[in-house]
Amino acid sequence: MKKRTINLVLIFILLFIFVLILEFFLLYIFTHPSQEKGVNNKSHELNFEVYIINNLTTSEKVYAYFEESNKIWNQYNISTRIKSIKNVNLNLSEEEKSFLFNYLAYEENDSECDTKYMPIIDNITNKSNNLRGIFVDRGSSDNAGRGCVCNCSFVLVDVDKLLSLMDFTGLNLAHETGHLLGLLDIYGKQNLMNHHLLMKSLKSHFLNQEQVNIVQNRLNDMLEEGLLLKISNISFYNGFNQ
Ligand SMILES: [Zn+2]
Repeated sequence: MKKRTINLVLIFILLFIFVLILEFFLLYIFTHPSQEKGVNNKSHELNFEVYIINNLTTSEKVYAYFEESNKIWNQYNISTRIKSIKNVNLNLSEEEKSFLFNYLAYEENDSECDTKYMPIIDNITNKSNNLRGIFVDRGSSDNAGRGCVCNCSFVLVDVDKLLSLMDFTGLNLAHETGHLLGLLDIYGKQNLMNHHLLMKSLKSHFLNQEQVNIVQNRLNDMLEEGLLLKISNISFYNGFNQ
């Protein structure tokens, strides 16, 4: 009788493990991109001015976040660099924090951008016109970010505070950089632009060719806008096209 119970428990455990493996396998199959990975044959460098609000994180960690983001973007021939890091002490109200992360402005001419949103950003960055990475607390425990709001020349990133073993801040920075470079969120597929937690845990680096083309167009626009401080137009030899 006792042996029977042990056998039943063993069967249950094995079944549980089997279902778990099957679940991850199916998730991988359903979400893994069937498309080819995008290729960018022009090398670009984005220089960010970094602002850390109220000691949310340290310079060392910010460098590590950029390094993680670069591991992804380097695959598409784009690298992001830190031009400067400034700590800014600022009294932001809960309403302002929430407004910064939730304000749904995608149009440059949105009136609230000039009157409400950009004054807060200008206050943080001393009216800088360069690319800016702002690390600011959203006032909630999970991480969050914004990559293309108002004039799309800055990213806002909150840092992961709960699970230091699964710190997605670097991945989040890469995702928001994707928005900055003209990409929209993608759902269901394993993609850098999918920020569903399960997809995050698969740490997707994937961008398809259509997305890479959008990024290239945006980079050209940024170059005209003077937002790109440095660009190296190196066409890589790919065997067919030089
Ligand atoms: Zn997003």
